Amino acid sequence: GKGAAMVTAVAYRLAEQSRQIAQILSEFSLTTEQLLEVKQRMKIEIQNGLSKSTQDTATVKMLPTFVRSTPDGTEHGDFLALDLGGTNFRVLLVKIRSGKRRSVEMHNKIYAIPLEVMQGTGEELFDHIVHCISDFLDYMGMKNARLPLGFTFSFPCRQTSLDAGILVTWTKGFKATDCEGEDVVGLLRDAIKRREEFDLDVVAVVNDTVGTMMTCAYEEPTCEVGLIAGTGSNACYMEEMKNIEMIEGDEGQMCVNMEWGAFGDNGCLDDIRTEYDRAVDDFSLNPGKQRYEKMISGMYLGEIVRNILIDMTKKGFLFRGQISETLKTRSIFETKFLSQIESDRLALLQVRSILQHLGLDSTCDDSIIVKEVCGTVSRRAAQLCGAGMAAVVDKIRENRGLDHLDITVGVDGTLYKLHPHFSLIMHQTVKELAPNCNVKFLLSEDGSGKGAALITAVGCRLRQELNS
Ligand code: BGC
Ligand code: MG
Repeated sequence: GKGAAMVTAVAYRLAEQSRQIAQILSEFSLTTEQLLEVKQRMKIEIQNGLSKSTQDTATVKMLPTFVRSTPDGTEHGDFLALDLGGTNFRVLLVKIRSGKRRSVEMHNKIYAIPLEVMQGTGEELFDHIVHCISDFLDYMGMKNARLPLGFTFSFPCRQTSLDAGILVTWTKGFKATDCEGEDVVGLLRDAIKRREEFDLDVVAVVNDTVGTMMTCAYEEPTCEVGLIAGTGSNACYMEEMKNIEMIEGDEGQMCVNMEWGAFGDNGCLDDIRTEYDRAVDDFSLNPGKQRYEKMISGMYLGEIVRNILIDMTKKGFLFRGQISETLKTRSIFETKFLSQIESDRLALLQVRSILQHLGLDSTCDDSIIVKEVCGTVSRRAAQLCGAGMAAVVDKIRENRGLDHLDITVGVDGTLYKLHPHFSLIMHQTVKELAPNCNVKFLLSEDGSGKGAALITAVGCRLRQELNS
């Protein structure tokens, strides 16, 4: 009768709806062949970044860091470190003891960087940083100590020495004026001078990937790769000097900051980017730039999710077809929320309460779909990140002419640490795509701070050697 016909119509509509939802999400699923292709393309871009003839136009810049070895345990002293460019801005005091009672002791304080400072003038940004250092020195009661300082600055820098780095371009949420093309160590020193309150010896500028690698290498000598999967994404590794054509000398190795976030900026990932990736890119602070980063890092995953949810809502599959103000708000889905929503221990009711907390009124069906969307986006992120890492470890293996390589990757970043599935899927992908490498992942405890101090220690030692 009529009732039965209505039930059939509803069932049909629901089936059609889930078919269309599956269709949208299928754009995010990548086959092993596609992932191998991504790995292959990363290898090509690595080569372009290393070679003199292609360096200028390369998207993956492969920046030399002037870090020539991992720590040997003789590093010691008291250091200040700054950590700028991750989830938090921090100032740290790091005390490293060498010898039999090797240890690292750290004190740190987190400071907020207001949005208007992140996106104001360079002078304001660096004055703010120095203001925070001043507060920290007061807090530690050491205003008069002239300590060597390591500056973890998690942005692409063209270094000419350990203590000079020209900012290539801002990434993530930063956009302060008058910094790009400038030496950030110079900007920091100028700001310290302007304040006329204390003197500091800036010894090293360090990318967070390098700090992470060094911190892990301090415990585990087989660690020769650093990876950040956090607000942004990037990797570094020990490359053979003879392959780094931009730097004189063929002996030994040097750590290269890959700046792999820019992978794809020449269009080489366009076949796998979706309309949602393009929307996220178009409305970002740096359209057209950091395209790989925008598919795999914490700052953007929530935005991809939000764009999919908006589309599904427009199509009437979600939130009763109503696009709320919340859903229109950029950056609502932070890494911590995605991580919570995807947690296996959460009942759907709890997912709904998280959405409620974000200001999204959901039905039970809505929450199922939202969770699926989050899972799809973060799975692809982990797989793509794994494909990039597979290219790196295979490159190291080939450098050494080995059939098999055992290697450790030091990792840090909120996405890696907080997300319930990201790390596992990433590990599995590396295993599958680089079967000739046995890759261990080592979580770096506070890599940016400790690593900057270790590199600063080496810098101080080299300086003394030069002066004697
Ligand atoms: C920056 C890298 C950094 C990474 C992780 C990227 O946006 O360009 O320098 O290592 O984020 O923080
Ligand atoms: Mg960090």
